[in-house]
Amino acid sequence: MSEFTLSCPVPANDEETIKLAHGGGGRAMARLLDSVIRPGFRGASLELQHDGAVLDLAGATAFTTDSYVVKPLFFPGGDIGTLAINGTVNDLLMCGARPLYLSVGFILEEGLPFATLRRVVASMHDAALAAGVKLATGDTKVVDRGKADGLFVNTAGIGRVLTPTPIAPDQVRPGDAVILSGDIGRHGIAVMAARDGFGFETSIESDCAPLLGPVLGLLDAGIVPHCLRDLTRGGLASATVEIAEAVKLAIALDERAIAVCDEVSAACELLGFDPLHVANEGRFVAFVAAKDAKPAVEILRRHAVSANAAIIGEVREAPAGQVSCRGALGVARVVDMMSGEQLPRIC
Ligand code: MG
Repeated sequence: MSEFTLSCPVPANDEETIKLAHGGGGRAMARLLDSVIRPGFRGASLELQHDGAVLDLAGATAFTTDSYVVKPLFFPGGDIGTLAINGTVNDLLMCGARPLYLSVGFILEEGLPFATLRRVVASMHDAALAAGVKLATGDTKVVDRGKADGLFVNTAGIGRVLTPTPIAPDQVRPGDAVILSGDIGRHGIAVMAARDGFGFETSIESDCAPLLGPVLGLLDAGIVPHCLRDLTRGGLASATVEIAEAVKLAIALDERAIAVCDEVSAACELLGFDPLHVANEGRFVAFVAAKDAKPAVEILRRHAVSANAAIIGEVREAPAGQVSCRGALGVARVVDMMSGEQLPRIC
């Protein structure tokens, strides 16, 4: 795989917008790649001049993909580009894998300003650099005006599995501690507030971030979590219910240990949302053996992104497949996923 270098950059023209011809495989597409995509990913190990990247992989490998359709494209704390890199990086980390390579596929709508695409590409470059992943291959397509909302991104990622035993839902055992890496609900509220006409203001920023530090920190210390799950769409509720149902065990949470900042709490009250259902992009839960719980929390708290990590519950034998949450008054309620989607296009 050749290191990308651009010998003759085409001058940027911020007035220019995407046309159908930019996806046509001809000169116009070559110019889009030369003026926006390649310069934006400068230094990445990007193979756009060939049909694919050739990777040298050995041993257990994690492989994941995700598509990003967030609306609006830019929101406090991030944009569709940071989301597309961090989301896929974090899914690899949740498999106990060090993220190595990503692919990037763009669907661009006719009329999208080059300047918008340039901003997104710059965000992706910075996020990939921060997470230590290489952009190995990519693709760009253009669709007619009105057939996409500006731009959509798909990223796929490959990572090297670092642990001898799998980190997966079926490894969760009764007695495991449930650790939450930080306060919840920031991404969902930030995106909702950024949406035109949503009708409330908040200074909340998305928690969108790579989880490299905390996850590798645990593994480096010899703590192998039984399961890791990042809290994205559906929030803490969906993540824990999915795991409880998969392993047919109970998860008992303590609401007093689950951090929700004042602004997220206030927005949830206003909108009638349960913070447990609100989306995150830089938080995860770790299921660890009870003996590892305290050291794991200490390690997580050394990293800014997980500085408020806490034990929020435990895994029990019964009732199988059920998540409960004990509130401030000591009364436990059953936690369920939302039946539909709280807000579409949150990621
Ligand atoms: Mg995930």
